[in-house]
Amino acid sequence: MVCEQPEVFASACALARAFPLFTHRSGASRRLEKKTVTVEFFLVGQDNGPVEVSTLQCLANATDGVRLAARIVDTPCNEMNTDTFLEEINRVGKELGIIPTVIRDEELKTRGFGGIYGVGKAALHPPALAILSHTPDGATQTIAWVGKGIVYDTGGLSIKGKTTMPGMKRDCGGAAAVLGAFRAAIKQGFKDNLHAVFCLAENSVGPNATRPDDIHLLYSGKTVEINNTDAEGRLVLADGVSYACKDLGADIILDMATLTGAQGIATGKYHAAVLTNSAEWEAACVKAGRKCGDLVHPLVYCPELHFSEFTSAVADMKNSVADRDNSPSSCAGLFIASHIGFDWPGVWVHLDIAAPVHAGERATGFGVALLLALFGRASEDPLLNLVSPLGCEVDVEDGDVGRDSKRRRLV
Ligand SMILES: [Zn+2]
Repeated sequence: MVCEQPEVFASACALARAFPLFTHRSGASRRLEKKTVTVEFFLVGQDNGPVEVSTLQCLANATDGVRLAARIVDTPCNEMNTDTFLEEINRVGKELGIIPTVIRDEELKTRGFGGIYGVGKAALHPPALAILSHTPDGATQTIAWVGKGIVYDTGGLSIKGKTTMPGMKRDCGGAAAVLGAFRAAIKQGFKDNLHAVFCLAENSVGPNATRPDDIHLLYSGKTVEINNTDAEGRLVLADGVSYACKDLGADIILDMATLTGAQGIATGKYHAAVLTNSAEWEAACVKAGRKCGDLVHPLVYCPELHFSEFTSAVADMKNSVADRDNSPSSCAGLFIASHIGFDWPGVWVHLDIAAPVHAGERATGFGVALLLALFGRASEDPLLNLVSPLGCEVDVEDGDVGRDSKRRRLV
């Protein structure tokens, strides 16, 4: 790889996507064990000395994270169910010396996680909320990354068709990216409190499946009338962000999800969509995307005009919009935010990665590089600092800052 110093991180992450770990082609596993790919970096332009050992270590951790996420997303649900996803979380926890917190099955119900429980209760493998927590001495703020981990999405009783269901093994792409990024971030040294929150469920069909018209009580205390069982990601994430807010005391909550098919219409195949209550963080996401290769473009954030799409006559809200022609990807994100409250003083960032989570038939590991870059300043690693979006305030137009009452610093 021949590139300039500022492009090393993005180039390495791009290369990682070209070497997927998952295959079930017969005979391939034996060949894969032997296959070693050696990549050499030649730096040109300014700072064109030899690549430092610390840089290589950072690249190794980042690319391992990208490939871990891609492997989980590529693995079909007959192997990557909620049990096996929890094993992946346990494995990362063991490597980092962290014991995960796991709330599962009936305990979700009794503790009030009506979103995750309601979505996952029809499946053979029960739903789970799992958390990996890193709480170093000297931390000055608390960050939560919340991932949508729908290991398979049939749509539930609002079932998907034979052409739209294939590929739904990828509906855990947000949780997979959070896991890959968390592993790399902690290995590179993360100075603030960081919680990885995994909302795991299989949206299945059976006698115990949630029906349209059912009303669920979510962890936020709000009630939701289900009008579309295929709008399940926002239900599990609503519980995840509520937990991050109420139980983890997070100052910054970022959720990442393959949330809406409409994301591809809004921002295309290559750009994730960002929806956030902070103009500063919106600009930071765009800038981090350009530096790491996981591109991002903003969605309209306007709860005062859009949230009425979820109006219900009998509950606090419905889970699916009345009008699909009214910025549905924005609305889906707003549903999640409404469970921490639009007046919550912290920073909330929602990243919809439905389209860029894959390229053709392969997972991309999208989101890992983005999280590492976006929170690069929480690390002392020079490379992560180089790709962090710090200083992006100058990119924000004066007029935009007015709406931004959130003064949480960029880490
Ligand atoms: Zn769905």
